[in-house]
Amino acid sequence: MNCLFCKIIKGEIPSSKVYEDDMIYAFRDINPMAKVHVLVIPKLHIPSADGVDEDNSAYIAHIFEMIPYIAKAEGLDGGYRVITNCGDDACQSVKHLHFHILGGEQLSDKMC
Ligand code: AMP
Repeated sequence: MNCLFCKIIKGEIPSSKVYEDDMIYAFRDINPMAKVHVLVIPKLHIPSADGVDEDNSAYIAHIFEMIPYIAKAEGLDGGYRVITNCGDDACQSVKHLHFHILGGEQLSDKMC
């Protein structure tokens, strides 16, 4: 499968790792949209939020268990935003489910 984020997980493409365990990988976005911009991905290839089901939802639960830990490690004491783009209308550009963690500064009050 020719998936950019699967290649990042395997170390075939370099990334700036923030956190890793047996289920998930977190790394810095190459084009940050805030002072802190981290992507959190499941090690299992799930194309988008639309592909979450009862067989793989443990990965998503684990991502959300670890987001507070990652946010704390990144110093996001003032809060942060978690976003996932799902499908073409949402401009999802990488078809491997990922959650953006944005923070480190005052974010816009506009969601889109
Ligand atoms: P989305 O548009 O929601 O699919 O987000 C994909 C994100 O992946 C964008 O914010 C890109 O900047 C980011 N991205 C693409 N390639 C890389 C890469 N090689 N390393 C880190 N982030 C990347």
